[in-house]
Amino acid sequence: MRNNMAHQVGRGCFLTSLIWTVLFFIYLNYIQVNQLLKNVPRNGAETHQIFPTKFSSSFSNFPKQIRPQLKINDVENKLDQDIKATNNIVISPELDKIYYENIQKIRDLGFKQHGFNILISNQLSYHRDVPDTRSMECKGKSYPSSLPIASIIICFHNEVLSVLLRTVHSVIDQTPPHLLHEIILIDDHSEFDYLKEDLHKYIKENFPEKVKLIRNYKREGLIRGRMIGATNATGEVLVFLDSHCEMNKMWLQPLLFAIQKDYRMVVCPLIDAINAYTLKYKPSPILRGGFTWNLHFKWELVPPSNLLGPEGVAAPIKSPTMAGGIFAINRRYFFEIGQYDSGMNTWGGENLEISFRIWMCGGKLFIIPCSRVGHISRKMFSHKAQEFMASLQYNSLRLAHVWMDEYKEQFFLERPDLRRKEYGNISERVELRKTLGCKSFQWYLDNIYPEMEIFPLPAKEN
Ligand code: UDP
Ligand code: MN
Repeated sequence: MRNNMAHQVGRGCFLTSLIWTVLFFIYLNYIQVNQLLKNVPRNGAETHQIFPTKFSSSFSNFPKQIRPQLKINDVENKLDQDIKATNNIVISPELDKIYYENIQKIRDLGFKQHGFNILISNQLSYHRDVPDTRSMECKGKSYPSSLPIASIIICFHNEVLSVLLRTVHSVIDQTPPHLLHEIILIDDHSEFDYLKEDLHKYIKENFPEKVKLIRNYKREGLIRGRMIGATNATGEVLVFLDSHCEMNKMWLQPLLFAIQKDYRMVVCPLIDAINAYTLKYKPSPILRGGFTWNLHFKWELVPPSNLLGPEGVAAPIKSPTMAGGIFAINRRYFFEIGQYDSGMNTWGGENLEISFRIWMCGGKLFIIPCSRVGHISRKMFSHKAQEFMASLQYNSLRLAHVWMDEYKEQFFLERPDLRRKEYGNISERVELRKTLGCKSFQWYLDNIYPEMEIFPLPAKEN
């Protein structure tokens, strides 16, 4: 009898817990889907047509209820925290295993290789609306209908297909057709299969006229890659973008307008952040570019005087440096001031080199806060970071030796280990500096970046 009672109670408990488990499941799915929709604004009915084949196939046959959990919990948190949280939810040993393996895939395929969440990207529309992050002052501005036409140059290496195509669609969606001369994609010797035939086919079918695809037969790095793009471009203005960007409303007009007024004006949009975990688009504060003596770029506050003029927060911001490769420049002027240093490798340093050169050789560099472009702020992981750091050091040495005069000693104070490192032949760049009649680095510091702190150098040994 006692045994029988226990059996009955046990069955009751089992049924109750089953019902609770099912309810819990439904609840979890509900909050996770809503969480996803909150974090990732979606728009446009269709998601894109082609997925990276290797990737999509491995996810398409999971039980339906598992899928929303791939973007589980507060994805704003670090992935490790997600994984810990996941371990606390016991679904069933079998499903847990599948789920856990997928989290691993996000980690392995996404974050290790690309530094952002591929799974979310692959499920987002190519045509999503991003929030209009411009200030009221900017929204009230209008621009002449006649502006110089732009060639958009996007160099990529092993980019995620959905991210690359969202970048291209976003340019097309957000740019008046009469201002968009062409989009030039430079494939910097990517290895992924889906960037070969699939990409070619997609471009041919969807943008037969506006988009050109150039393939590098060997890996050139982003510096020579962008130069190849510029050489093939025929628009009046060149606009360089990374392969993981999304354009905001009226992003191009303010840039073109600034260049139309002054052809030596080089302009950057204000770069909004697309979160690497959630792909959520967030406005950035108004900041300008600076650098540290180890030749790393840094964001810094804009001097209040810049914001207190008649244009207020819509005023262009004089910037000592640019952040990276998102900027617009008159094509003729780009060649006139010596493009980039083609002796620089893979990645890094070119943004400071072109910034110093623009200011020292008679140009101007401004951030235009009424132009907003979102950029995925990737998380860097080991192998890529190592490769990039090596080229950054090499490139930094080149730029220090060509442009920084006696102030290169400030760099060596920070990096004494680099003093005797190889940096290749710089004679052409030294010659360019002479030909252009560029000013000294002292002039740059005095006039463009007086806030930069100079450190005392140790007394020289005899
Ligand atoms: N890139 C390239 N070749 C390389 C390294 C990078 O074409 O050897 C591309 C990359 O795909 C991206 C752009 O150059 O579109 C800028 O690189 P990344 O986004 O890594 O730079 P960051 O945003 O970190 O400055
Ligand atoms: Mn980038």
